[in-house]
Amino acid sequence: MKIVFGTSNKNKLREIVSMLPESMDLVGLKDIGCHEEVPETSLTIEGNARQKAQYIYDHYGHDCFAEDTGLEVKSLDMRPGVYTARYAGPQRNPVDNMNKVLEELQEEKGREARFKTVIAYIRRGEMFTFEGIINGQIAHEKLGTDGFGYDPIFIPDGETRSFAQMTKDEKNSMSHRARAFKSFLNFLNK
Ligand code: IMP
Repeated sequence: MKIVFGTSNKNKLREIVSMLPESMDLVGLKDIGCHEEVPETSLTIEGNARQKAQYIYDHYGHDCFAEDTGLEVKSLDMRPGVYTARYAGPQRNPVDNMNKVLEELQEEKGREARFKTVIAYIRRGEMFTFEGIINGQIAHEKLGTDGFGYDPIFIPDGETRSFAQMTKDEKNSMSHRARAFKSFLNFLNK
């Protein structure tokens, strides 16, 4: 069964291939000749995941899934949300993005936050969505050097360390993305 993962990121593709049942032939966007940028102009994380999956299905006709992730900070009205990757500007720089969040929280008491991943899967034209959430707090400063994106400033609930202070396996045992994929895989294995 051929299924397209709406990503051009080789690492993400490899990570997911290792999780899927062997009967599934998972390919990326380049493998189906999709070299253009897939639009993601929705105002919600779920909307973006749906939009990307729908675009691939409409233009290439394959069963497919796409994912979108955002960081939501409660006292910032759930920003950066859909702007997570480009919060401090189009340069998409993770340090600039983290600094912007830390600056905005200087005046705020509430540091509650969550990461959310939504996966939108289209099977023979029908759309299914799966969500993974991890709740936590925004740290007062950057902690740790591992990981990527906002990892140094996100401390999951029940932990004293940021995602960037954990091993990959520790982070993957609780992350938003792992949770969303787990629920997607449960559905595929049913
Ligand atoms: P994407 O939808 O997976 O491309 O993620 C959008 C943005 O969210 C990325 O550019 C990162 O800044 C951020 N992000 C996604 N997942 C994580 C994570 O696990 N840790 C830290 N930042 C993340």
